[in-house]
Amino acid sequence: MKPLLIDGAWITTSHAEENRNPSNTDEVIGLYAHAGRAETQAAIEAARLSFPAWAASTPQFRFEILNKVADELTLRKSEIASLLSREEGKTLREGLQETERAANIFRFFAGECLRPAGDLIPSVRPDVSVEVTREPLGVVGIVTPWNFPLAIPSWKIAPALCYGNTVVFKPAELVPGCAWVLAEILHGTGIPKGVFNLVTGKGSVVGNTMLSARDVEAVTFTGSQAVGSLVAQASIKHMRKLQLEMGGKNPLVVLDDADLDLAVDCAVDGAFYSTGQRCTASSRLIVTEGIYGRFIEKLTEKCRGLTVGDALDPATDIGPVASASQLATDIDYIEIARAQGGNLRCGGDIVKGHNHGYFLQPALFTDTDNNMRINREEVFGPVASVIRVRDYEEALATSNDTDFGLCSGIMTTSLKHAAHFRRESRAGMVMVNLPTAGVDYHVPFGGRKASSYGPREQGRYAAEFFSTVKTSYIRP
Ligand code: NAD
Repeated sequence: MKPLLIDGAWITTSHAEENRNPSNTDEVIGLYAHAGRAETQAAIEAARLSFPAWAASTPQFRFEILNKVADELTLRKSEIASLLSREEGKTLREGLQETERAANIFRFFAGECLRPAGDLIPSVRPDVSVEVTREPLGVVGIVTPWNFPLAIPSWKIAPALCYGNTVVFKPAELVPGCAWVLAEILHGTGIPKGVFNLVTGKGSVVGNTMLSARDVEAVTFTGSQAVGSLVAQASIKHMRKLQLEMGGKNPLVVLDDADLDLAVDCAVDGAFYSTGQRCTASSRLIVTEGIYGRFIEKLTEKCRGLTVGDALDPATDIGPVASASQLATDIDYIEIARAQGGNLRCGGDIVKGHNHGYFLQPALFTDTDNNMRINREEVFGPVASVIRVRDYEEALATSNDTDFGLCSGIMTTSLKHAAHFRRESRAGMVMVNLPTAGVDYHVPFGGRKASSYGPREQGRYAAEFFSTVKTSYIRP
């Protein structure tokens, strides 16, 4: 059994669960301890007790710890990428990219440890100076989803530790393996006991315990809107600092003057790579009349050519869906879209013959309306739909007509339309002539409306969430 990490010790539990390879469900990846209430409370207590010393540790010490994590991730890149593919189902190429990204995130926040933070502001009063300094929060609870098992935890754990907080980390049930490797690496750096704690297990048990604990000063959550709302409701009772990253229904607008080949490439990449299981996936393709026919033709041809298969097979473009329940959700939405009048241009079939895996041929719908459920609700799978519009104005209005606001994109050679879209799109991230999915590791990440709540993740903006500001008035 792979144990929990609490107060610097590896702890086994009376309950453990297997996780399996979604490319081949006959393959058991490992057996992982499930924490109960008592273990979760012990982890919170360890984080609370270790906080004062960690908060007072030198930035140089924290810099060294985070850099060691980055070095180890780089050193073990192939092994970790392969685990990522076997555990989550993304292709090996994507697994390698995610591992590199995680290493870069730790390296970035290692550097941030040494960056001066704060301001010296002249006071309106004579002989008084005003100092604005940043301070850590305390115990930070980290709750993550399964779709980026390494990168998302990294972009929360690294800044939490960088700014002097201690951590209780609860990964998604589907992907304890990557979380465990990250814990093993952190433990191996010589990080003081209790500063980083791993509690694998159920959301309803570990997550709930974390949310009801008074000593958890802040919670950063990435996952579904439904669970995000629960996290928010539970946290408000404690007036806890909160950061929520949730779903998306991201539009990619394709205008008449777009480079056709580039538009098709970006649509396929944004909609279907990572098996469409990205919060930034381009699930709504909004296309103007003048290019519609040619775009659909080329897009369909390209979708039909995508190879769905085992995540570790180098010939695979699209790996399996991550779980049986996600596959069932995808199939449900395909049926709903059909029933509401969508035209299934290609894909949507379960692919057989690859061991026992959750393989689905990417589904492309045309003739859809922005009010259909397929265009209102996040599917989180390889299912995309095309919406035909008259012109740029209608495309912009349709792209903004959504409850979400994570990422949006536009394919155009018109500088005027690109600039207007960049300004008017109600999303946290805007892509011009790029897929909506695929973001840098050192810049702000997050959205608006139902997609995000609280300060941005990643880059220097992460300091807003993971630290608090103190204003001191000093008369010498
Ligand atoms: P989920 O909401 O089911 O689970 C997320 C995490 O919350 C898991 O660790 C889960 O165990 C935990 N959890 C479940 N119930 C809980 C409870 N009652 N209390 C506390 N924690 C609980 O999401 P998922 O299926 O793992 O991930 C898919 C979702 O994540 C999609 O909606 C996707 O859009 C979203 N996502 C968003 C971003 C982003 O940055 N915006 C990135 C990746 C994924």
